[in-house]
Amino acid sequence: MSEQYDLIIIGGGPGGYVAALRAAQLDQKVAVIEKRESLGGTCLNEGCIPSKALLDSSEYFALARDSFGRHGIKIDAPELDLAKMQKRKQEIVKKLTRGIASLFKKNGIDWVNGTGRLGEDSDNGMQVVVETKDGEQTLEGETVLLATGSVAVELPHLGFDEAKIGHARDALEYQEVPEHLLVVGGGYIGLELGSVWLRLGAKVTVVEMLDEILPNTDQELAVELRKSLEKQGMTILTGTKVTGFDKQKSGLSVKVEGERDEPIACDRVLVAVGRKPCVEGLNLDEAGIDRNKQGQIEVDENYATSKAGVYAIGDLIHGPMLAHKAMDEGVVFVERLAGRESLVDYGLIPGVIYTMPEVASVGATEEELKENDIDYETGKFPFMANGRAKCMDETEGMVKILADPASGHLLGVHILGPKASELIAEAAAVMAFGGSIEDVELIMHPHPTLNEAFKEAALATMGRALHA
Ligand code: NAD
Repeated sequence: MSEQYDLIIIGGGPGGYVAALRAAQLDQKVAVIEKRESLGGTCLNEGCIPSKALLDSSEYFALARDSFGRHGIKIDAPELDLAKMQKRKQEIVKKLTRGIASLFKKNGIDWVNGTGRLGEDSDNGMQVVVETKDGEQTLEGETVLLATGSVAVELPHLGFDEAKIGHARDALEYQEVPEHLLVVGGGYIGLELGSVWLRLGAKVTVVEMLDEILPNTDQELAVELRKSLEKQGMTILTGTKVTGFDKQKSGLSVKVEGERDEPIACDRVLVAVGRKPCVEGLNLDEAGIDRNKQGQIEVDENYATSKAGVYAIGDLIHGPMLAHKAMDEGVVFVERLAGRESLVDYGLIPGVIYTMPEVASVGATEEELKENDIDYETGKFPFMANGRAKCMDETEGMVKILADPASGHLLGVHILGPKASELIAEAAAVMAFGGSIEDVELIMHPHPTLNEAFKEAALATMGRALHA
């Protein structure tokens, strides 16, 4: 007889493992099926965490090389030990993924190491078949949650070849700094990993099909970030498409069309043109699970698919492909299953691009407000006028607040600047509590801090910024 669970989760990434932990807290008997040798999914193994490790290391390298002098610190030109940098990154990944495995143990969650697919209906729910290295195993779950995440989109005329043309996973593993890295796609991955290798000494060219990088980000900030990255030495070609490539003796010659028409000679290509739901081999069609035109699984407000007892969250369904969105959906799914009225606020999903300076946003962009004919007033405050940013010597960027003119409620907050990734949490908190610019004004901010720029931007919407 197959083992019986309350909840079987296919996929042990941020969505799946967090759902498992919350379900265990609610006394569910849970199994997680994960094919990787470690838990944590793309985020921990080959995405958010390793990329942030390299972003932090390469930022220190660039600061030591380019900025220490300005602080009155004299050092010889720093030397790169890439093997050590890569090893450090790997250690962080190992510690964090093992941490999840031990949390599973502590919470009595079974991890089945193998590839899962939906099986037959059973008396108590549904069967899930797992291909493990020791053969097939069948589990039975009253409820099944699909949380298999997403995979990189491949371009037909620039297929992944593991040697020269790859996606994020490959660009995190380079053992030598490329001479010339061509990045296709000016989105999250392209700009973050492009920044890593630029800081470590590569020539980096980003080719973006649209007229500006970061198409879904507030465009005023996207323009400012592009200028900053160009100042750092990145070449960014917008309105440009890759049409093919030729193999050369020592690299590739990539054909482009748009802002530039001559082929680009490079030794590495990173394709970062988006990701798509990872549904291959799950048996969705056989199980009668509906998908939309984008290939996402259709779910209702409880994350239920068209097949009774089967649910889906994270990159498999609508919304931005972000780890924190998947995590919150995992918790909310489990709590709703338990009869609680939990909710994900899809209007308040923060987004961060970990470039230097960072970009962080929550709520509507100016473009979205215009498109939907929503009235707004704008308040901006530059980090140039912020004391802490001056001390840090990181004065690029601004805080931009979009607020409702009648009520003062915050509609969107967009930050380009130092530690924007941390600063955005205050904006998200104010917005989650339905706060207004007057509420922000009433909050005493410690001085000198970067957060003061948020309060000043709120004051600026009323024409009352004190330091600008
Ligand atoms: P993305 O959607 O962020 O950016 C893709 C970019 O490629 C877009 O600007 C798009 O216009 C462009 N593009 C598409 N086709 C193209 C073509 N043929 N030629 C040139 N440009 C083209 O996707 P991504 O950077 O691949 O990231 C994938 C997902 O991973 C994103 O959805 C993102 O949410 C997530 N991610 C998040 C973070 C973070 O939170 N910091 C970091 C990395 C990835």
